[in-house]
Amino acid sequence: MAKIKMLRPLVPTSSGRTIRIEPKRADPIYHSEEHKRWREQVLFDASFRCQWVESGSRCTKAAPQHRLFADHIKELRDGGAPFDPANGQCLCGAHHTRKTVQARANR
Ligand SMILES: [Zn+2]
Repeated sequence: MAKIKMLRPLVPTSSGRTIRIEPKRADPIYHSEEHKRWREQVLFDASFRCQWVESGSRCTKAAPQHRLFADHIKELRDGGAPFDPANGQCLCGAHHTRKTVQARANR
């Protein structure tokens, strides 16, 4: 394992120091055409606006001012359907992070 860690790329930071970044291990599913279509459908169905609802109010963040994420309501690692639009919701970055952290905590 130590040898692999040494192969992580060195990245210069704004402070002039270099740090090693962890390799991103994205599921190959996220690179598929099917996923791309699913993502577009989820964002379209949400009218390109975050679907997070809190205290009865829907989040107002929308594209193109905000980056949006197609989120699996039931995450793939929890057995959620990867390409079912009904298992998708459009979330802004902040809400996507909150949802992901919550799903992890519930696991
Ligand atoms: Zn939001």
